[in-house]
Amino acid sequence: MIAWIIYEHECESLYKLENNRLEQRASLIGFTFTSYNSFLDTYLTSLIEGNVLASYLRNPNNIYRERMLTSHLEASISRVRRGQQTFASLSIFDTDNSLSLYIENSTDPFAEVRSEQVALAQQMIKQKQVKVWDHTYTEAPTAEKSVIQQGVAIDSKTLLSPTLLQAESTYRVIATISPGKFETLLAQTKAEYQAELRYFGIDAPLEKPPEGLHAIVKLSNNYFLLIQPSENYFASLLNQVKVRLFTIISLSILVTFLLLQLLIRRFITNPIVQLDQQLTDVIAQKKQNIDFPHSADEVGRLGQKFHALYEKLNQAFQESFSQARIDALTQLPNRVGFHEAAEKLLLEADKQNTRFSIVYIDIDNFKFVNDKYGHEIGDELLKSISAKFNHLIAINLKHSGESFVYRLSGDEFIILLPEHDSDSATQISNKVLKLFANGFNFERGHFAVTASLGIASFPQDGSSITQLISNADLAMYQAKKAGKNRLALYSNKLAKGDRQLKEIEALLKDIDLDKELTLNYMPVIDQTDRVKGCEALLRWNSPHIGQVSPAVFIPIAEETGVFEMIDLWVIEQTFKDYKELQSILGEQLQVSINISSAELHSENFINKLTELCKSHSVTPGNFMLEITETFAMEQSSNAIRWLESLRQLGFKIAIDDFGTGYTSLMQMVDYPVDVIKFDKQLVERITQAERRHLAKALIDLCHIQSIQVVAEGIETTEQSRCLWQADCDIQQGFLIAKPMPIETLRSWLEEHQYLERVV
Ligand code: C2E
Ligand code: MG
Ligand code: MG
Repeated sequence: MIAWIIYEHECESLYKLENNRLEQRASLIGFTFTSYNSFLDTYLTSLIEGNVLASYLRNPNNIYRERMLTSHLEASISRVRRGQQTFASLSIFDTDNSLSLYIENSTDPFAEVRSEQVALAQQMIKQKQVKVWDHTYTEAPTAEKSVIQQGVAIDSKTLLSPTLLQAESTYRVIATISPGKFETLLAQTKAEYQAELRYFGIDAPLEKPPEGLHAIVKLSNNYFLLIQPSENYFASLLNQVKVRLFTIISLSILVTFLLLQLLIRRFITNPIVQLDQQLTDVIAQKKQNIDFPHSADEVGRLGQKFHALYEKLNQAFQESFSQARIDALTQLPNRVGFHEAAEKLLLEADKQNTRFSIVYIDIDNFKFVNDKYGHEIGDELLKSISAKFNHLIAINLKHSGESFVYRLSGDEFIILLPEHDSDSATQISNKVLKLFANGFNFERGHFAVTASLGIASFPQDGSSITQLISNADLAMYQAKKAGKNRLALYSNKLAKGDRQLKEIEALLKDIDLDKELTLNYMPVIDQTDRVKGCEALLRWNSPHIGQVSPAVFIPIAEETGVFEMIDLWVIEQTFKDYKELQSILGEQLQVSINISSAELHSENFINKLTELCKSHSVTPGNFMLEITETFAMEQSSNAIRWLESLRQLGFKIAIDDFGTGYTSLMQMVDYPVDVIKFDKQLVERITQAERRHLAKALIDLCHIQSIQVVAEGIETTEQSRCLWQADCDIQQGFLIAKPMPIETLRSWLEEHQYLERVV
């Protein structure tokens, strides 16, 4: 817009300027022309009023008369034109209009009167003019393009202006001049302005008034010259303006652009780039935070706000970072913390070719503490265990200030032992086990919890943390299965055992019960040495892996969910065998059947059992259902109700393997059970000389509640005698009989002379 306004203004100024210039040129042209005209005027006046012409006309015999006129003409010219070569001529026409004299200021000896002069003389006669003025011009490129002529008539007698205009009594004097300078000026103007030149007067007016840039030169009263520059002239001037303006505008835009660029760079882009660079460094953790910007401009303020924001965020991040890695209860680092530390340790160990071990710890029977004493105590226990672990590791590891104990979840912990191979890790693990030697003591009491530990070492037991954890977990699981409160080292053998376990799992899913399972019976005797009954013990002969102990596959069956199918098969098979067993071991025979503690609460199991009793027409009272002690941990009203409903069907209920778990006998006797079976381990303990008094007390306690006691795992006569003395009701063990197929029961009876002592 500015460019346009400037352009408009420039156009106007240029137009005015050009107009002025043209006017000036026109005045100069007019002045030049008029000066020629004046010369003719002056010349003719001096000629007539002086005596040069008179002497010429009055003295026809004077041989110098012509010469005098010529000199006068030349003198007049040179006076006015100041040495400039100017063509002028004079012609005098006689009374009869014949040419009396013709002179000119040229060197041409043969010069002749000009036709314009003759024509003017004739015009004077015709039109009876005393004084004429004329300007003739030609467009042809001749040396003298135009001439100015003035003619006067003089009386032949008075040699003055005639009063009556009669041709026969007057001379006509005609002076002509060629306006050279005027022509030159015109030629220059024409060339300069590419102008069109038009003469006009009242008798020959212009066809239409001129438009645009032009000038009118007044040459005489009734004679004008129009100078009209061509349209191209002004257009080309305008073009120059346009180009100049365009150049200036372009340059100023360029300069403005560069200046803006410079300013934007200096005050916006560069600070933002610097801010961006710093942010990138902060994100890449090459810097703590961006440098605090001190400038007060927008970018500076933005930077300051970011600085403050990042400060806050970083603080919040640091808090949540540590929260995400710290276990809220024990204040130990958690699983995330463990993985980070372990990955770092693994990298270092890999680089420096060193070893390290991880110890996976699971607190045994912790669930029991939670269920029995409540979660608050459980939490306290975990805190105390954590503190003791930490203390122990701090003493045994020389690394100061670092935590190597992690709480993975619930009652699971991991200890990371840098630079420890499996041997030194075992030493520390044994110290951990010692913390639980006689249960765990802390200010809130004594708790019968222990720990199962699994150790895996880098590099032999795994090359990744996931692998090492999984192997340490496997070892820990083995420790648990081996009876808890112990440690196990991961080994290829252990892994093989695990693979076998998985194989058993798979085989159990496709088991053909009738083909692969059989029952063995293990007779039991009472105080009178009579065979009181027998326990049905399951045998699995897999076509793929051969004989598998029930102690191995029953827990797997419980985990994989196939236990119910197996239990029902055992029950049905025992019902089928019962008649034959009666015929061998006596009519009052009591047969014990083991059922999975996983059956607890199962309504379906009770329904199936009822159906089986009906379909095989058995008397439930002849059967005892054995459930392992572990179920007693679920001391819920539901469990009691479930046991009651089995009893209502007529079955006797026995608690199997009492003494392996942590249920006190006091709790057990409150249960609706008929028999408690003391486990082999318990039997071993209470038959030791220093603990014998315990056997009697335990058995008496059961008897008070009308519960019979069966002692399992009797292997020595000493054990047998000791327990009989303590008033044990029934004994079972290899001393009496090993489990055997039904077919060998009879020969066993005969061999051991129990035949006459069947019940
Ligand atoms: P349990 O019910 O306590 O069975 C007694 C186990 O102790 C039997 O092992 C028996 O052979 C063993 N035993 C008995 N007296 C002695 C002894 O004097 N010395 C030694 N060293 N061992 C003795 P078995 O047959 O290997 O059974 C192991 C466990 O598998 C059983 O323990 C029981 O919990 C489970 N089980 C066996 N059969 C079945 C079944 O049909 N169903 C269910 N659910 N579990 C069963
Ligand atoms: Mg049993
Ligand atoms: Mg048992």
